[in-house]
Amino acid sequence: MVCISTPRRNLAVSNSLVERLQKDYPDFRFISGRRFSFRPPKTIVIGPDEGEKTPLLIFHELGHALSKRYRYDLAVERLKIEALAWQEAKKAYAACRVSARYPDLPPWDDDFAEDQLDTYRDWLHQKSKCPFCKTTMYQGSDKIWRCPYCNQFKSQGLFTYCPPTP
Ligand SMILES: [Zn+2]
Ligand SMILES: [Zn+2]
Repeated sequence: MVCISTPRRNLAVSNSLVERLQKDYPDFRFISGRRFSFRPPKTIVIGPDEGEKTPLLIFHELGHALSKRYRYDLAVERLKIEALAWQEAKKAYAACRVSARYPDLPPWDDDFAEDQLDTYRDWLHQKSKCPFCKTTMYQGSDKIWRCPYCNQFKSQGLFTYCPPTP
């Protein structure tokens, strides 16, 4: 039985990549887990192999660690944190690619990073949609979402129902 599958080979690459990153970033801890994630302040969780995108996903989580920004109060800050992590990831990736120790890194893929950010943009869009009139709400520094349309009615005494925070 021929059993040389691409995922297996990629997994070997990502394993050796993680080993090298662990040496280059000794302040952080790289562990494997069910999904790619970052556990502040130092733990980078490596999820299952995603083929050629695996290095980008690994560097994205490293980007979270390097950016040192991981707390957010407002939904829009979450998007900012994700964008920042991709920025840091790209910088670290470029630094690794010029060194002789990472000959296996494919070119950086901005489109992939943008696609990943789109999932957060969609999330923010969904979250900010007023459940009553579908107008885009805004989140105040008190974390409460307000709909400009429904709240206008409320202030004029025409609308007594206060939309709950979604
Ligand atoms: Zn992220
Ligand atoms: Zn509304």
